[in-house]
Amino acid sequence: MRAMVYHGPGNKSWEEVPDPTIIDDTDAVVRVDTVTICGTDLHILKGDVPAVTDGRILGHEAVGTVTEIGAGVKNVKPGDRVLVSCITACGRCRYCRDQAYGQCRGGGGWILGHRIDGTQAEQVRVPFADNSTYPVPPGVSDEQVLMLADILPTSYEVGVLNGGVRPGDTVAVVGAGPIGLAAILAARLLSPGHVVAIDLADSRLDAARNFGADIVVNNGQQDPVARVNDLTDGLGADVAIEAVGVPETFELCTRLIRPGGRVANVGVHGKPAPLHLEDLWIKNVTITTGLVDTYSTPTLLRLVAAGQIDPARFVTHRFALADFPAAYDVFTRPGDTGALKVVLTRA
Ligand SMILES: [Zn+2]
Ligand SMILES: [Zn+2]
Repeated sequence: MRAMVYHGPGNKSWEEVPDPTIIDDTDAVVRVDTVTICGTDLHILKGDVPAVTDGRILGHEAVGTVTEIGAGVKNVKPGDRVLVSCITACGRCRYCRDQAYGQCRGGGGWILGHRIDGTQAEQVRVPFADNSTYPVPPGVSDEQVLMLADILPTSYEVGVLNGGVRPGDTVAVVGAGPIGLAAILAARLLSPGHVVAIDLADSRLDAARNFGADIVVNNGQQDPVARVNDLTDGLGADVAIEAVGVPETFELCTRLIRPGGRVANVGVHGKPAPLHLEDLWIKNVTITTGLVDTYSTPTLLRLVAAGQIDPARFVTHRFALADFPAAYDVFTRPGDTGALKVVLTRA
């Protein structure tokens, strides 16, 4: 088969590799029908994720069809259409028993396209298939469900739920890329008073309005702290969601929140960010971090199936699998291309 293979920082290629096979009796092999590229893949290609080594097939999000199962797999069978989640779960370790699948110690967690070969391929081996795949409900499209492989549960769990968003809250979302937009969409599920999107690009702020932000601030032109304080009687946001992953945006989040407020960091950080405890210690703030656990995936699937959310709105560009290098090129230059999520489909 062919796959997108990582060959060290800055190097990747769409090339011929051996077909995956069942290794453990809890594995399934899934034919990839629809797949996407994540911002995390770009971090890997920059060399920010040293656990990813030369020869690794990239990708941790897919929708596909089961072609083969190990003897121990009970929940899926060949022919089933499934979501392959970014998080794999052994189902037995302490963390899995606590629904914290992202921290699985039994061989799962974020392993696809990281510690084992991933989904940017014609086929993928999925370990612990019973706990790591989700049947796609009838009437739900591949593109809709594909966004539940990573960005929607990540933004919902690590941003909105860790941030404790409640009805009436003023929620500031810093960064209006795919993760920030998903956080805006997910925050709306909890009836906030205001959702304020903050970004340096007007095109992304336009997208933020479409995804449910009622106020947008270009922080290259306007002071976001002053704008949020105006909205909140000078107090600040109840919740600030960090959706970029650079020191400046994390620091901005800590300045946006009110006393007693909550900063939920979603961004993947590659270097230290300043924490001004000299200002924050007296303000009773809560700061959370996290890798997605995907415990919310069944809930999100029900919301999609019921028509309450339509995650296919993230898809801006479509390619055939063989055009993977072109899709990476488009996704790497969102400022020029307007890309939010690019989707590749089997011919
Ligand atoms: Zn991802
Ligand atoms: Zn586990």
